[in-house]
Amino acid sequence: MNPSTNVRAYCHADIMLEYMAIGIALFDAQDLRLLEANKLFLTLFDTHQGPCRQPEEILGHPLTDWLYNAQESGIVDIFRKVAETGIPYRGDEFAFPSRKRGVTYWNWTLDPVRDQDGHIIYIVHTVSDVTAQVLARQQAEQAQSALSLTNSIVEAERKRLEVTETVARSVRESLDPEHIGNVAIDAIRTHFNSTSACLHIADPAQRALRLLCAYTPPGREDAMRAMQYIPYEQMLATKQAVQQHDPITVEDLQAAAAAGLFNKHSTLVHMGTRGYICVPLWFGDYFEGTLCATFATTVQPDGPEVSALVSCGTHIAAALAHARLHATMKSERTRLRDILDQLPEGILIAEVSNGTISYANPAAASILGIPLKDLVEIPLHQHPWSRIYREAGLSGQQIPPWNFIVIRALSGETITSKETMVIRPGGGKAITLASSAPLYSESGIMTGAVIVFQDVTAQKSLEQHKNEFLSIANHELRTPITIIQGFAEILQLQAEQGHSLNSLSQYALTSITEQSQHLTHLIEEMLDISRIEQAQFTLQPAPHNLLALLTHAIENQAITTRQHDIHLVLDVFQSPDVLMGNVDEKRIMQVFNNLISNAIKYSPSGGEIEIGVRHTPDKPNEAMIWVKDHGIGIAANEIPHIFKRFHRASSLDHSLSGFGIGLYLVKEVVTHHGGRVWVESTEGQGTTFYIVLPLNSPTHT
Ligand code: ADP
Repeated sequence: MNPSTNVRAYCHADIMLEYMAIGIALFDAQDLRLLEANKLFLTLFDTHQGPCRQPEEILGHPLTDWLYNAQESGIVDIFRKVAETGIPYRGDEFAFPSRKRGVTYWNWTLDPVRDQDGHIIYIVHTVSDVTAQVLARQQAEQAQSALSLTNSIVEAERKRLEVTETVARSVRESLDPEHIGNVAIDAIRTHFNSTSACLHIADPAQRALRLLCAYTPPGREDAMRAMQYIPYEQMLATKQAVQQHDPITVEDLQAAAAAGLFNKHSTLVHMGTRGYICVPLWFGDYFEGTLCATFATTVQPDGPEVSALVSCGTHIAAALAHARLHATMKSERTRLRDILDQLPEGILIAEVSNGTISYANPAAASILGIPLKDLVEIPLHQHPWSRIYREAGLSGQQIPPWNFIVIRALSGETITSKETMVIRPGGGKAITLASSAPLYSESGIMTGAVIVFQDVTAQKSLEQHKNEFLSIANHELRTPITIIQGFAEILQLQAEQGHSLNSLSQYALTSITEQSQHLTHLIEEMLDISRIEQAQFTLQPAPHNLLALLTHAIENQAITTRQHDIHLVLDVFQSPDVLMGNVDEKRIMQVFNNLISNAIKYSPSGGEIEIGVRHTPDKPNEAMIWVKDHGIGIAANEIPHIFKRFHRASSLDHSLSGFGIGLYLVKEVVTHHGGRVWVESTEGQGTTFYIVLPLNSPTHT
């Protein structure tokens, strides 16, 4: 190469170096002085230190004088190593702090330059700025990791939804908590890799949890056994579960056991469990149980496993509540049925929808004489006994008479104690008191009816026998008494006609007459009772002045006592002549006599007896009559029973004789006349009986 060519080549090399896109510099290998550098190199190093403030000023100075942190960052050592070993250096993405641009990144090289003897005399240093590429890559990496985080969140949410959806689907298919629990446990195991999971039901009476279903790893039957029955107080988690609605999470069971926060001897710890979640199952304010799961890895309180278990828990709690309420209802129904089955009254429940008897108790079957199995679930008109009736032509019935009660009940009628004859398929008869009432649903629609039969055949026949006996006894007694009475009267007549009798005989004769009259009176009253019982009690009404009858009764009774002061009080706004009633004279006299004689009898110490009549303009069609004494009175608890036949006050002195028939007849006679009777009394102070009788309307008087 000739010299001129050489000069041109060097000139061109300078220009080329000056405009190269990478920084290039030449260092002295001995003292690391910067000997030459192109423009880019000088501008790149704005991070110089020391006295060299301008880029050009660093030329001729050693690296340590102008490069910030040259020593500490290890750059000087790298230069020295290249200078000593001659091994080139390649550095990628070296981070340099730049004053103007912050952190910058460089790829750089160091190459040794040797002299003819092979000594390293220079180091050529190139640097290229790769900051933009590095930053772009870093951004890409950040975006990538953000994306993968989002992906894992989405994935966790997907798993949670899948578990929840699986459980929700199983709820739609069945409401059996065990089935739903198994589905939930399976889904959690599949999607979240749980090592064990279990569903417990609360037993509030025992304050314990009972295992409903669980999954444990094969060969861990010990874990299954340990889970069967857990008293609330046994574990911290269960203790908390009965008090809180939020899930209980133990992030790392092994760490918790090591820290003494969890029983290190527990089966869970032995199984190597890390994550533990326990979801308390609440339905409103009712603690239904727990859903728990364990994991081989740690879990976070806000992790997807917790939210999946919580979502399942909501469905399971509802299913458990449903099952609990259903079981309670079922046991209540069974209890009610057991009670109904035991009742001596026959009970039928008939359905409006199809006219069948949906329930009959054994007593109903026996009263109706139809086997229980033939009684229920068959529409009335298809019952086999209806056919038996038709074929046998029993009492000409097409329909058994008691069926009418069912039909009336199903038409919504309420029937109280209706005497109903039951003719059994075999021909036997029973007298029942049948009552019925419609049954309504909560929405007010009539769904059926309940019919109750009480077999009163025995009572009825007893009563009939009693009545028959009474009427026979009456007739049989009346004849001898009439004869005794007749002869006593003859004897008395003879005594009056001169056949003198001594005083004892005279007294005996009077007593015979009086007592036989009393006996006749009693027999009459007994006969009245059997007449009333047999509905043969009839009145012979005719217009009578009530005041006249009352005055007559007072006169009758007044002669029987000297101890009492009987007086009449009138409170009438018109002439007493208008007190005309259409009454049976004999019966009304019986009423007045009974009340006045009772007033005398039950005030044994004597005293005032007031008999009153009230007729006021506001009630012109009725008269009130009262009989007031100051005798022994009636205890408050006796008053409701006082008009019942054969009832006598329990505290009565035995010297006050009686049968307990009088007031019963008073009530019957008064009510048969369309009137009312009642009593007011204070024990030890006296009694007032009131009766109200209708008067004839003025046109009839
Ligand atoms: P008897 O007088 O024959 O017992 P009643 O039917 O006339 O039967 O009366 C029933 C019961 O009512 C009596 O036994 C008595 O206890 C009570 N009683 C009736 N009238 C009176 C009265 N004026 N004062 C107190 N108790 C009375």
